[in-house]
Amino acid sequence: LSKNFVIVGGGPVGLWTAIQLRKRFPNSSVFIYERYQEYKRKHVLKIQHSSMFFGACRQHDELDAKFFEAVFEQSRGKTKYTPLAKSFISTSSIESNLKQWALSAGVEIQYETIETLDDLVTRNPDSEFILANGAHSSLRTQLLGDDDIEKSDLQHILELKTRVGKSLSQLRSTRANGAVKGRLKHLGFEYIGREDNAMTPLSFRLFVDQQTYSQVPEASFKSPITSPDVLPDCVQEDLSMYAQLHDFNLETLFEHGQVSKLQLSVYHAKAFAATYRDHNFYLVGDCAMGVPYFRALNCGLVLGSRLTSILHHRSPVAMYNRYKPVHQYAESMLAKSKNTALNSYDELRKLYRRENVKRLGLVND
Ligand SMILES: Cc1cc2nc3c(=O)[nH]c(=O)nc-3n(C[C@H](O)[C@H](O)[C@H](O)COP(=O)(O)OP(=O)(O)OC[C@H]3O[C@@H](n4cnc5c(N)ncnc54)[C@H](O)[C@@H]3O)c2cc1C
Repeated sequence: LSKNFVIVGGGPVGLWTAIQLRKRFPNSSVFIYERYQEYKRKHVLKIQHSSMFFGACRQHDELDAKFFEAVFEQSRGKTKYTPLAKSFISTSSIESNLKQWALSAGVEIQYETIETLDDLVTRNPDSEFILANGAHSSLRTQLLGDDDIEKSDLQHILELKTRVGKSLSQLRSTRANGAVKGRLKHLGFEYIGREDNAMTPLSFRLFVDQQTYSQVPEASFKSPITSPDVLPDCVQEDLSMYAQLHDFNLETLFEHGQVSKLQLSVYHAKAFAATYRDHNFYLVGDCAMGVPYFRALNCGLVLGSRLTSILHHRSPVAMYNRYKPVHQYAESMLAKSKNTALNSYDELRKLYRRENVKRLGLVND
């Protein structure tokens, strides 16, 4: 079977899908349009190895082996590739290794932003199209209309990111102070980064209720809050308590610190496939659906593999849309069950806190 596939978006899911296509359709051409020469995301990902296994075409050839060796050798803990294992990998590592693999497998990449579906179709008249251009895809809206996604919020988070003049080991020893943590009004999780030039990055996420969240002024990662004064009292109190945990005060946290708002939600596109000007379009990765970010890429990789196997089918648009509820249900259930576990843990934590308040008179509500 010989086809021309054009993918918009050379992020990890676009590249993974391209590789899968080259394996399943060796006589077909696979072309990617990517906006940036250098991938923009910079964070660490948790990858379940099964996400690259489930439904994927594994040929165990030289390119295949080289990729898994390179990626999982670089991961923290140097886990060997096995379907049940998981690894922590930087986005730049997974992206650059996938790119190398895709190029070696014959995928072509052109660095260009695609603005409209019309432009895409006019320039590639004999192709099928895959949209892998992320969560905020305007091409998806052109394909499916303004109500292109359905979304439900799971958690509301305030995230403090800062750098402090303490070593990793000092911070690790003070964070064991569970008594202070138990006194927080909201559920809080801390992540300690790698020390650099005598400064260590810290991020602290507070899971707040919707009402508290709405009292915080708009603050994205790009334009965050840089002073605690605009935050509701209950948030300031929790941040002060968190500062105490490491023997700081609130001002020290904000010296190099800032707060942004984020919502953990589950969303999915109205359809995973549609036709436009007689051309088939398929959605993968964050463009198709999103779950809270600790699993989002995993969900995208599984979907990419599944799509490429469905493309062998005689009516792939209908088939991929029939597969949509299965994938959506499995991934949403996983996210919602984790969310329920998190909420139950928070209820227990509050109960324990109320007991402590009564017993020791520790905190005034
Ligand atoms: C802080 C954080 C932590 C995370 N941790 C995890 C984790 O632990 N585990 C996990 O599974 N997931 C995690 N995720 C989610 C994961 O990063 C995303 O799910 C994943 O990057 C999605 O890949 P993608 O290829 O679908 O989209 P993207 O990575 O968004 O890539 C889309 C690509 O399309 C390109 N593009 C966009 N528009 C156009 C256009 N018009 N023309 C051409 N190119 C275009 C962009 O430049 C980009 O390269 C995390 C996310 C964040 C923010």
